[in-house]
Parts: sequence; C-alpha cells; structure tokens
Amino acid sequence: MSELYGTLQRLYVREDLAAEGVILLDSKACHYFKNVLRRQEGESFRVFNGRDGEFIARIETLGKKEGRACIVLKLKDQPATVLPLHLLFSPLKKDRMDFLIEKAVELGVTDLHPVLMRRTSNRKINEDRLHAQIIEAAEQCERLTMPTLHPLSSLERVITSWSGLPLCWARERGNAQELGTLTEIPQAFLLGPEGGFDEAECAFLESKTAVKAVSLGERIYRAETAALVCLAYRSLLPS
Ligand code: SAH
Repeated sequence: MSELYGTLQRLYVREDLAAEGVILLDSKACHYFKNVLRRQEGESFRVFNGRDGEFIARIETLGKKEGRACIVLKLKDQPATVLPLHLLFSPLKKDRMDFLIEKAVELGVTDLHPVLMRRTSNRKINEDRLHAQIIEAAEQCERLTMPTLHPLSSLERVITSWSGLPLCWARERGNAQELGTLTEIPQAFLLGPEGGFDEAECAFLESKTAVKAVSLGERIYRAETAALVCLAYRSLLPS
C-alpha cells in the first residue's frame, strides 16, 4: 500500500500523531507547502514524528500564519526497536560536514556526537543548521526515527562518560583489526579529524577497554569518507 504514496511529500513534525488526528501547521510549514511545493487545500502529504509511525494527511486550510491538516490513513508502524548506531566525529568544514550529516542520516545513524579533538579545525558548530539538515535528510530517505544530535563535547569528556557500548575507533596507520572481520555488529564509531588523532589521543583511547581500534584498509580516507565506509558497512549487515 505504501508504494502508492511514495511520491507524496514527506514532512517531519514534533507533535504526537494518531489516526484521525489533526495537525496544526505553523507559518513555516504553510509557507513551505504554499510557496515552495505549490500545494493547495485538499492535497495530501506524508507525515512522521520519529515515534508514532507514518501517516497520510490532507491539507484542510492553508493560511499565511497557520494551517490545518487531518490524518486520513496510517501507512507504517513505528519499528519496535532499532539497534543503536552512534557516530562520534570531529566537526569538519562546512561542505564536508553537510555531506557527512546527510549521508550519516541516510545510513541510519541514531546518535550524532560532534567531538572536539586536538586537530579539529572547525571548533564551532551551528546546532540549528545541523538540526535542519538532519530533518531534511530524514524526510527524504523515508526513515521513521529521528537521530539525536548530542551537544559538542571534548574527546576526553565523551570517552570518560561513555556508556560502555563497544566503540569502534577508526584508527589510521595503527595497530587495528580490519572492520570487516569483526564478529559483532558495530554500534558505535569514532572518527578522527582531517589531521588524524595525535599521539596523546591514541594513548588515551588505547587505555580504554570499551574502545576497539579498527582499520578500514590501506588507503587513508578523508574523515567523511571514512565515516561513510563505517556506516555503509553497518547498514548492510543483517540486524
Ligand atoms: N591526516 C591523517 C589521516 C586522517 S584521516 C594522516 O595522514 O594520517 C581522518 C580520519 O578518518 C582518521 O582519523 C580515521 O578516523 C579515519 N580513517 C581514514 N582512513 C582510515 C583507515 N584506512 N582506517 C581507519 N580509519 C581511517
């Protein structure tokens, strides 16, 4: 059934969603439907909130400041559980970071952790911008969950307070097991900055039992490529 609706615009909202419910559209959503998508009252779209599954809704009213849509059909149930997929990454320069965020969301990341490392060149992040990119990518790729963006933190703080979930540390030029030979399904990856990890960081990571060094092969990738290799590998594993 859902294939029939595959071409309908997909919108993320924060509010709860339920069969026969009503969705209030704020001025941003109204502008988007009216002026960007050129939609009118009576037309349908898909909607999800990351918690309740996916629905078809029909636009009832579309004003300048607010509008209303009503839910007409449930398309997909929310999956009961999703295996976590954490990505700990060093903020990159704008275009490379945009690429990284979009692809990570498409590849099913559940938790994005921007982490400051010694050689991180971009030491600030714009959370609003990252949130907007996360939403856009999630809307586009049809996922039903919304990744969590964690606050920017230092490598030391993130690792010291880490939950204990095995953390695959993508380690270039070091002693590390090939990613493809792991027997367990990786649930968390740590990627370094463009300049790589420094010696003190490597020593610190080596001392942590939850951290396991993994190699992605002989080629040295850019940080965003290395992240894609890790996430694409995980996305192909049965889970
Ligand atoms: N400038 C560094 C490379 C940094 S690559 C150097 O020349 O040594 C950026 C990040 O991508 C690394 O910190 C690592 O986390 C990851 N990475 C790149 N290639 C990798 C590989 N072959 N194996 C494991 N991790 C890799």
